[in-house]
Amino acid sequence: MVTTADAVIIGAGIVGSSTALELSRRGVDVLVVDKAGGAGMRSTSASSAIIRFNHSTWEGVAASWESKFRWEEWEDYLGYRDLNGLARFHRCGKILLDVPFIPRERMTALFDRAGTPYEVWDADMLAKRVSGIDTGCFFPPKRVVSDEFFDDPHGHLGASYTPDGTVKSYVWDFGDGDTLGPGTTAAIQSPAHTFSAPSPTTTAGCKGGGYLVTFSAYDDDGGKASTTKCVVVT
Ligand SMILES: Cc1cc2nc3c(=O)[nH]c(=O)nc-3n(C[C@H](O)[C@H](O)[C@H](O)COP(=O)(O)OP(=O)(O)OC[C@H]3O[C@@H](n4cnc5c(N)ncnc54)[C@H](O)[C@@H]3O)c2cc1C
Repeated sequence: MVTTADAVIIGAGIVGSSTALELSRRGVDVLVVDKAGGAGMRSTSASSAIIRFNHSTWEGVAASWESKFRWEEWEDYLGYRDLNGLARFHRCGKILLDVPFIPRERMTALFDRAGTPYEVWDADMLAKRVSGIDTGCFFPPKRVVSDEFFDDPHGHLGASYTPDGTVKSYVWDFGDGDTLGPGTTAAIQSPAHTFSAPSPTTTAGCKGGGYLVTFSAYDDDGGKASTTKCVVVT
């Protein structure tokens, strides 16, 4: 049993574990103790695992922005290859809806200072970029058992978006043999396409028939995201 150490860290969450790793890399003999059954079992395991750059302090923004680069080379950073696969970083970007107690201008000033790319969206852009979202402002949160919970929204929300990576190209497959792209021009992002014949009544992926239209975006890190829609032409 270990009875001595140069440093004792109480708590083996992400903060205690990271501190222990960095201290031990500097040759410090570290002992980490935790009252839970293992490492990272409290807030750390509850995390949504998103690298959130939106913080109200410079230290928070700078640390999260720097951590993104560590996550991108996580195995190299740890110096460890796990055959079962370590936690991996999925590039996805993040949207923070406007809330009154997190002033957007304060965050964007810190993004400017750190060099963190961001976009500020109004409600129209939010609805365009996040299909199906209700942009109504229902703040503050209400108890579901209260009458106020069913109040109509007051005003509409914008958002700040921190993309991760950049789109290199878009490609369309209209399902009728025609394709468009790769490219990033406005004509490729929002193309006009004419189907020259009614859509087939049986199409794999389209219940009830239609043209299976596929839109794909490729980023600068080899990532790809696609979405499909069935278009019925009569
Ligand atoms: C639902 C949820 C979602 C989140 N999503 C995100 C996200 O997407 N992105 C993000 O960046 N952050 C997110 N967070 C925040 C993030 O999870 C925390 O900021 C982070 O995990 C805190 O790490 P920590 O090491 O300080 O705390 P913890 O992980 O809670 O670790 C503290 C450890 O200390 C131990 N401990 C406490 N007291 C004692 C004691 N007296 N003796 C011994 N051990 C003790 C506890 O058992 C625990 O293991 C989220 C948090 C929650 C709850």
